[in-house]
Amino acid sequence: MTVAPTLPGAVTVRVPAKVNLELRVGPRRPDGYHSLATVYQAVSLHDEVSVARWDDWQVVPTGTYKSLIPTDGDNLAVRAARLVAERWSVDEALSIRIDKDIPVAGGMAGGSADAAATLVACDQLWGLGLDRDDLAELAGMLGSDVPFPLAGGNAMGSGRGEQLAPVLARGTFHWVFAISDTGLSTPEVYAECDRLRERDGVEVPEPHVSPELMAALRSGDPAALGAALHNDLEPAAFSLRPRLRELRDAGVEFGALGGIVSGSGPTVAFLTESHEAALDLSVSLAASDLCRDLRRAKGPVHGAHVVATPRD
Ligand code: ATP
Repeated sequence: MTVAPTLPGAVTVRVPAKVNLELRVGPRRPDGYHSLATVYQAVSLHDEVSVARWDDWQVVPTGTYKSLIPTDGDNLAVRAARLVAERWSVDEALSIRIDKDIPVAGGMAGGSADAAATLVACDQLWGLGLDRDDLAELAGMLGSDVPFPLAGGNAMGSGRGEQLAPVLARGTFHWVFAISDTGLSTPEVYAECDRLRERDGVEVPEPHVSPELMAALRSGDPAALGAALHNDLEPAAFSLRPRLRELRDAGVEFGALGGIVSGSGPTVAFLTESHEAALDLSVSLAASDLCRDLRRAKGPVHGAHVVATPRD
């Protein structure tokens, strides 16, 4: 990954991907969103976003997944920068370079991470002196998954997932992420979740994070965490992509402590005992031909932070 900013005067921010250790989806709210109870963990797959003053707005994608992100105003990084510019009456356009190493449309909140990174970068570039609360408020306006990558670590999310509370946790966890060929759109997965629940006449309670998961995080025991992983969107993701179930089952059979669809998928996250176990699992999964790409990462890691400024 390139760390150096591309343009003179650029500010570069590094930001992590997330995995939902638990995702409980409650009833659909009157505003169309579902109420969620979730626990996020930031993991060591990172994007880097560099912003610099420019004549006009532009997005310059680089890195592993550069061909998969929009370069127009739909890019969440552009939306984030424009929101800050509007709020603080900054009349400047930016060149936004995104070094993309977080899988795109994989349920790892890569677009949201870029938006969070851009908020931090714009604050620094324009010298606005925003505090954590200002940034979190802007993040919540941009999307439910945007506040968490600002914070990083482990956190519990409620509301639409955007209201964060700290979680007591210990230890480092080792992950293998199995990436499928085709992305899943988040709205499509929620719609399928609603359809399956309606078909099966399921009464949907208000969502709560399980005491088992919180205890597993407090103890730092990967086996306990592996057993406590849970995602209410998994049946919907399996219904839309039946091969994902095969992939999850294969990973568990190959020795993962737990396997779970990450967020709305289609990435499947496997928790392992150690770095070595993650290497072994990657080898077995690569031979199985059930996924396109495999990435190893550890968590938790820090949230969005500045890694280069014009003074560097
Ligand atoms: P989430 O877990 O938050 O639902 P995701 O990880 O499944 O999201 P993203 O990688 O955020 O998915 O991409 C979802 C879509 O968002 C992409 O298909 C892309 O068109 C759009 N998008 C907009 N901005 C970005 C960005 N900076 N990086 C990646 N995708 C972006």
